[in-house]
Amino acid sequence: MKIFGYQVEPGTRLCEYVKVGELACFSDIRIPVLVIRGEQAGPTLWLTGAVHGDELNGLWAMRRLFWDLAVKDLRGTLVLTPLLNPMAFLARSKISPLDYLDMDQQFPGNPQGLYSERVAHAVFSELRDKADYVIDFHTLNHLFSATPYTVSKIVPGAADSTNKTALSMTRAFGVYPNCRVDLQSASGELPGATSGALDILCMQHNIPCFMAELGGGGRWDEPVIQVAYEGIQNVMVSLGMLAGEPLAPRKQLMITKRKFLRSNVGGLVRMAVEPGSFVPAGGLLATIYDFWQEVDRVYAEQDLFVIAACFNPVVSSGDRLAFVGYEWHEAE
Ligand SMILES: [Zn+2]
Repeated sequence: MKIFGYQVEPGTRLCEYVKVGELACFSDIRIPVLVIRGEQAGPTLWLTGAVHGDELNGLWAMRRLFWDLAVKDLRGTLVLTPLLNPMAFLARSKISPLDYLDMDQQFPGNPQGLYSERVAHAVFSELRDKADYVIDFHTLNHLFSATPYTVSKIVPGAADSTNKTALSMTRAFGVYPNCRVDLQSASGELPGATSGALDILCMQHNIPCFMAELGGGGRWDEPVIQVAYEGIQNVMVSLGMLAGEPLAPRKQLMITKRKFLRSNVGGLVRMAVEPGSFVPAGGLLATIYDFWQEVDRVYAEQDLFVIAACFNPVVSSGDRLAFVGYEWHEAE
């Protein structure tokens, strides 16, 4: 098989760069591509990371897994593009200073477009033809700490089997909290635009895909990297690419409604809750101070599951304090 024009024989691995653009200072813009092709035939699982340039934990999980997996143990092919947005990565930023576009709103991309649209096109046109399954790795932004969770979307236009397979992949990944977002009823619930997102485009092309949200951005978070490292292998086991049993927890939380909680005042926040915890209605979430006094206390208006909490204490009115689930069920 060929990936980005590189021939990959059974029982071999590839570690290469793909040129996706050029800079004014005469350097090429390149993205890394790592492939392991097992000796036995099987599906192609494609992992993508750092489409937002400061979201780094998935990148390291992929790198570690690439060198730990033995080709003789693998059925099928694992393709890793751990760094989709090198210009944003260079700027330690979610988006690139070349065009200020969110690359995860540009798929399927445009070969005649701006930098982010061109990279999106280069990656998606290859992935669309080669991938049977996709996992897209993200993090919350660098101001937050977060418990690792998955997001699978019910995408209008995708086959029922695609929506079901994406869900079973998230379950196999094996983290406790999982967000299930029905795009038909999710208007206003998600942050920002959702069209042009890689996971949605994959689903519309009937390539089962989910997002794994791995902690906060701008740092290595070793426990979260380990969760991703094990989660990828769990999914590979569930797809028949590796032998063994997936190590999913017996109970998992399926969050069907979620939202950001925002501060109404400015000041210095001390969060009273940790990501990954439940807070009953009326429970204290955060206290905000100035240099003389408490200026506000924020309480839960309903039972909540805290997905992510503000890590940086600086808040202005309108800033996000926490990302929470407020409707969920447990699934076995
Ligand atoms: Zn992201």
